Amino acid sequence: MAVLEELYQEVILEHSRNPRNFGPLENADRTAVGYNASCGDDIQVHLKFSGDWLSSVHFTGEGCAISKASASLMVGAVEGLKISTARIFVRHVIDVISGRNTEPVTEESLGSCAVLLGVRRFPMRIKCATLAWHALETALKENNT
Ligand code: ZN
Repeated sequence: MAVLEELYQEVILEHSRNPRNFGPLENADRTAVGYNASCGDDIQVHLKFSGDWLSSVHFTGEGCAISKASASLMVGAVEGLKISTARIFVRHVIDVISGRNTEPVTEESLGSCAVLLGVRRFPMRIKCATLAWHALETALKENNT
């Protein structure tokens, strides 16, 4: 188990150092902002839609290693998904990380984002880990109108 935790930490550090899809998105259809005052994380999520699909997802901003790594993992996981699928996935990840999900969690249901599960042991960092996800969820909700 210790080896696995080390691996998770490696993945998180790697993503925070080399975030995926980091940078502005030209002609974005929507941008949502996530701000975590307790840590100073300030992340913006940028979306582009193509019909019912989420064709591009980028993020910008500043934050701690966990908030950036989580945003990086998120954009990689949701880009290319159907909007309806992305909505369900985003809610699932938020519920799981924040411990609201009472059902047994399979790592398969989280995909590459399973590395974020380790954050549950550090309640202070849960806000950091879910910041970008809440921003994305807000942006996807607006698409209903
Ligand atoms: Zn943070």
